[in-house]
Amino acid sequence: MIKPYRDLNTYFRELYGHRVHKLTVDAGLTCPNRDGTISTRGCIYCNNQGSGTGAFSRGLSIREQLEQSKIPVARRFKARKFIAYFQSYTNTYAPVATLARLYDEALAVEDVIGLSVGTRPDCTGDAVLDLLADYAGRHLVWVEYGLQSACDHTLRRINRGHDVACFEDALARARQRGLPVCAHVIIGLPGETRRDMLTTARFLADRAIDGVKLHLLYVIRDTPLASLYRQGRFQCLKQQAYAELVCDFIERLAPQTVIQRVTGDPHPRELVAPIWALRKRETLDLIHTIFKQRSSQQGRHYAPPATADTPTGSEPRKTARGKNR
Ligand code: SF4
Repeated sequence: MIKPYRDLNTYFRELYGHRVHKLTVDAGLTCPNRDGTISTRGCIYCNNQGSGTGAFSRGLSIREQLEQSKIPVARRFKARKFIAYFQSYTNTYAPVATLARLYDEALAVEDVIGLSVGTRPDCTGDAVLDLLADYAGRHLVWVEYGLQSACDHTLRRINRGHDVACFEDALARARQRGLPVCAHVIIGLPGETRRDMLTTARFLADRAIDGVKLHLLYVIRDTPLASLYRQGRFQCLKQQAYAELVCDFIERLAPQTVIQRVTGDPHPRELVAPIWALRKRETLDLIHTIFKQRSSQQGRHYAPPATADTPTGSEPRKTARGKNR
């Protein structure tokens, strides 16, 4: 099926000519918004797992995590090569030598051809970005920054602990080094209007962002958001409204931007609401149906800014492409 947006599989096929799959890694790091450096409360939707798998706390090394997950993924998706996706917590929040050891361990696993490093924009000093740029000379390397919203009032409300200017600075410094950046955005944050969400879309479009991951805001146990939900002070989006907002958002992004995700994957045991968040296939189908009904696709309402950069992710660096097939 041809998707109405440039998804990750399409991007990998353009790049490598075959299926590549991201494998999630938990490196056992922490986050400055949890360890007391910024705060101990964390973002209001995050539990103490830091969006992670908990694999590290179960005693699995990075090598073991990758070796265990690549077999079923290769069988199910016919993937031949893999990207190690450092997902849990903040994966640049450690001394550079420690990070190099973690990334090296992942890249030493057979058929792992690159890194995707999830982090906060306030945790990417120049030394860390230099390290990632060095890997990018030999491998495919993406940086994934949590932005969530381009509205500072929302970032304060959700206790992100950084502002939009911090993201802009981190984006510019990654770009100076040729690193493609994927921005994580949450749809349905407390107090956000449709206009706020589309402000975020326009903000990213104006910066010709390389990739975007869209997440539904769902409520999980043991979070400040769960308390707000129980008190009736926060309501989840309905499935139809979410799907329409996702389409609105993608229509405003540049056609080259890689849409890496259009919804989230809550753990059934942790999820409080909305229950429809567990029906991922249904949500994906709904998004595609809405695009079809609108006769629309990614970029339909994209207006290039006068000084738009070329998205880094649209033209992968030759070094990464050539050496990792
Ligand atoms: S930055 Fe990530 S790990 Fe840290 S509190 Fe927020 S969601 Fe949790």
